[in-house]
Amino acid sequence: MGRLTISGLGKSFGGMEVLRDIALDVRDGEFVVLVGPSGCGKSTLLRLIAGLEEATEGEIRIGERVVNDVPPKDRDIAMVFQNYALYPHMSVRRNIAFALRAKGRPKEEIEAKVAEAARVLELDALLDRRPGELSGGQRQRVAIGRAMVRDPSIFLFDEPLSNLDAKLRHQMRAELKKLHRTLGTTIVYVTHDQLEAMTLADRIAVMRGGRIEQFGSPLELYSRPANLFVAGFIGSPA
Ligand code: ADP
Ligand code: MG
Repeated sequence: MGRLTISGLGKSFGGMEVLRDIALDVRDGEFVVLVGPSGCGKSTLLRLIAGLEEATEGEIRIGERVVNDVPPKDRDIAMVFQNYALYPHMSVRRNIAFALRAKGRPKEEIEAKVAEAARVLELDALLDRRPGELSGGQRQRVAIGRAMVRDPSIFLFDEPLSNLDAKLRHQMRAELKKLHRTLGTTIVYVTHDQLEAMTLADRIAVMRGGRIEQFGSPLELYSRPANLFVAGFIGSPA
């Protein structure tokens, strides 16, 4: 299941401590947003969860399983990046199917999953196009589709909307919320945009300098900020 439990997590690069004593308990099906200023360690935390980096200390569990020792490719996790790096020479259909083809899944299963992703993400009419023939928002939806067909129990998003213009960002936010309601999958979502955090999250972890300052619902953070940093960042009345 998609419950994520992190305790005592630390990460250093060389001698530099980038994350310290991170604890986080994400419920199955919850939408959690990690927010904080640039350089505070959001992407590093996400990359640790994805298994793209190794922790210096601490533990990450998904359900009952300690995932630190599970090879990244065997983790039940899919990550969507900021520059979603689609394969330019492949059709949308092929891009979405990529992970399943690589795993040698049966043709019928691949077709069914691609069709389902295309329906949910409203990409049906675009399946035979190449990424170069799509708008930014459409490309972003293809990147999400590519993650979706793997049926992960947890989705990780690293600033997926930051390359889009304001209008499209607004629209994609609504689409992400709808997608979360439809799939019911656990989501851990990184942004430096507090408005995005407040509109998307069930709970928000506010980070600063490699630590979590406060973890709570948007209303809790707004009405009972733990300190001035959180208040200032969330925009609570002083
Ligand atoms: P954020 O995503 O919140 O902007 P990052 O997690 O990317 O922050 O970075 C946190 C800190 O860790 C920064 O000071 C960054 O320079 C440092 N850092 C990230 N990755 C590496 C790396 N591979 N080697 C050395 N330092 C890194
Ligand atoms: Mg980052």
